[in-house]
Amino acid sequence: MAEIGTDIQKAVDELNRGNVVAVPTETVYGLAGNAFDVTAVAKIFEVKRRPSFDPLIVHIASYDCLDSVVRRIPEPARILAQALWPGPLTLVLPKADEIPELVTSGLSTVAVRVPDHPLTAKLLATLSFPLACPSANPFGYISPTSAQHVADQLGEAINYILDGGSCKVGIESTIVGFEDGQAVIYRPGGVPVESIEHLIGKTSMKSMSDSPLAPGMLKSHYSPSKSLILGNISELLDQYGHEQVGVLSFSRYFEQLDHGYQIQLSPTGNLTEAAQNLFASLRKLDSMNIRYIFAETVPEQGLGIAINNRLKRAAGGNAQINVRKECS
Ligand code: AMP
Ligand code: MG
Repeated sequence: MAEIGTDIQKAVDELNRGNVVAVPTETVYGLAGNAFDVTAVAKIFEVKRRPSFDPLIVHIASYDCLDSVVRRIPEPARILAQALWPGPLTLVLPKADEIPELVTSGLSTVAVRVPDHPLTAKLLATLSFPLACPSANPFGYISPTSAQHVADQLGEAINYILDGGSCKVGIESTIVGFEDGQAVIYRPGGVPVESIEHLIGKTSMKSMSDSPLAPGMLKSHYSPSKSLILGNISELLDQYGHEQVGVLSFSRYFEQLDHGYQIQLSPTGNLTEAAQNLFASLRKLDSMNIRYIFAETVPEQGLGIAINNRLKRAAGGNAQINVRKECS
């Protein structure tokens, strides 16, 4: 069983040995390995049971390290990185030869970011290599936002989990690429699209696809093992009844349902708080003795766009309403 602790040197030793360790970031916990070492990267895919067509995000210590993993930095990428790093922004840029193809699933681009967490920042500053670091969950399941979440699922497969407390953003990074000089949002996330557009102007959003070749845009993801149905919760309760049902609402409380079976993401209607609580709430509902999770979307603005994206993907084919077209 993995040891949970705050000993950076233990994490350094494991990583220098070519092993993988779980690390905290402001978004979700990551499963980290030496990004330059194909064997370490292969271990990440193995532990996560992640298909090799789904590329990893490379984590670096600071903007100054970007040259060691990418070939070229377009001007809008430089503007975004300098304004928003460290932070929940991932840039997709032409990859340097040193990055193994396994990291990028054969793509000529690499996804890279500087995480904003004091322990992992110190870890990256100590190491002589960047970290390939996808979320520390089994492929397709809900992302972990605490050390215990990681231990619950990957505890048998790794030796060490660096414990940095609960993730303060709670949702994965916003992924931005550049196609023909135009910024494209591949995944909405912890940096609101509005903040990105404020810095570099209009962006476009690439829609999710069932095609494994469209990296990271698989429709069904972040999924609990219970059936999650996304729609109007009152109508769903009327339609299906209350038996074996749990509810995940934005802020509303439903009188007709036992309070033990409902979670409000943010009772005060705050999207930052809702993002922080999203994955832990999904895990809690998933562990209850229920068959269905009824959930509703949150306001489609700021972090709400990323929250709705995760809810829709957690629902897989069970979405009864449409959230904004570009995010579907
Ligand atoms: P995770 O680290 O689990 O949040 O997943 C990383 C995600 O980053 C992948 O699923 C992809 O969506 C995205 N990604 C990584 N590399 C690339 C790339 N070269 N081009 C586009 N998206 C990428
Ligand atoms: Mg992930």
